[in-house]
Amino acid sequence: MIATILFFLAGLAALGGWLVWREWGRPLLDLRDFIRALANEEPHQPIVRSSFRPFTQISADLGRIADRQRRQRRQIADEGFSLRAILGSMVEGVIIVDQSQRIRLANDALHTMFELTQPPMNRTVLEAFHHPELSSALERAFREVRSVVLELHVPPRIGESRLDRHYRINLAPLMPPNGATPVGVLGVFNDITEVRALEAVRREFVANVSHEFRTPLSIIGGYVETLLDGALDDRPMAERSLQTIRKHSERLNLLIEDLLSISRLEHRTAKLDCRMASVQEILERVIEQLESRIRERNAAVELALDADLLEMDVARIEQVFFNLLANALQYAVVNGVVVRVTSRRKGAEVDIVFSDNGPGIPYRDQPHIFERFYRVHKDRSRDAGGTGLGLSIVKNVVMAHGGRVSVRSTPGAGASFKIVLPVRQSKD
Ligand code: ADP
Repeated sequence: MIATILFFLAGLAALGGWLVWREWGRPLLDLRDFIRALANEEPHQPIVRSSFRPFTQISADLGRIADRQRRQRRQIADEGFSLRAILGSMVEGVIIVDQSQRIRLANDALHTMFELTQPPMNRTVLEAFHHPELSSALERAFREVRSVVLELHVPPRIGESRLDRHYRINLAPLMPPNGATPVGVLGVFNDITEVRALEAVRREFVANVSHEFRTPLSIIGGYVETLLDGALDDRPMAERSLQTIRKHSERLNLLIEDLLSISRLEHRTAKLDCRMASVQEILERVIEQLESRIRERNAAVELALDADLLEMDVARIEQVFFNLLANALQYAVVNGVVVRVTSRRKGAEVDIVFSDNGPGIPYRDQPHIFERFYRVHKDRSRDAGGTGLGLSIVKNVVMAHGGRVSVRSTPGAGASFKIVLPVRQSKD
């Protein structure tokens, strides 16, 4: 009997224990697991096995907190990704520095621009870039709480082959929502090396053009002055003066024509007017135009043309052949120059070579002779009527045809100009 009662009591106790465990213990452990997962930012479902209202409410609230946490995490990840994607795809270099001028963020473009060997993160701007003017501009942006623009000139390092680089840098203070002092500065670096190089080319071009015009103009002015001062009454003197004036006005004309040719070709305002034409026919026309010069110089022009028909802008190629042949005749100091023109097909291209037995071109000048206004012997070329633009026109015309031009010369043993032109022009 007692045993039965004891057994019954034990059963009751076990049942009570199980009930306490089910209603309190198990939900508490569920909550513990869930809060731990929340704290560790691990994914976990808010399962609280209880029908007791406070537990279900706590569970629902925790579920909402977990949801919000998930959304925020995703948002941060998305923003991080977008920021990385934006910064990574920018051609401009970007940095963010803090108040102690330590770099907090730098994108890939900046690494490439400055060829940084070490990651710049957490280093000061001065340590990373070694440009005190950048540090002082940053300091000004912090101190004066305004954007500062600075241009940085970066010379190549010792042993580095690349040219000087120029950067325009915009430094903008980063303001906290309600604060008056910047928490950092955002720097955006634009590489303006090419712009500066083009400006230098333009400046040089204007200086060259002015110089080229000034000489004939001042000569013309001088002779007009002489005529007005009485030379008009001295017939032989007047005639000489007028001839000089004519020679220099022709030179001015030539200069303007050459400049216009180059400008049209460079700006591609005039499209090429291409058709199949014969190299030989064009060369024969050029030889005819230069006949008196060939005779004067006692020169010979030999043609050995294996390839003839090409799709080209005949008028322009005629100018190329004219310039090359005229140069060969012009710069031969001795009489009896022989110019040999050969053409040979190579696949889809034709090589046309103008070789002469003239004085050749010094090695140091060879890389430059296709540049505008470049002359080997400045005065000699000018006296001979050269503008310094002939080979530049050759290069521009050949390139407009999708071809290329090069020179080979052993000083004292002639020069050889090779142009390579495609047989057919591409249709676009
Ligand atoms: P230019 O109008 O003065 O002839 P170019 O551009 O045609 O100018 O030529 C540039 C320079 O290249 C010339 O000043 C000349 O010294 C040199 N040159 C060109 N062709 C020859 C050649 N066949 N032989 C020797 N020198 C040449």
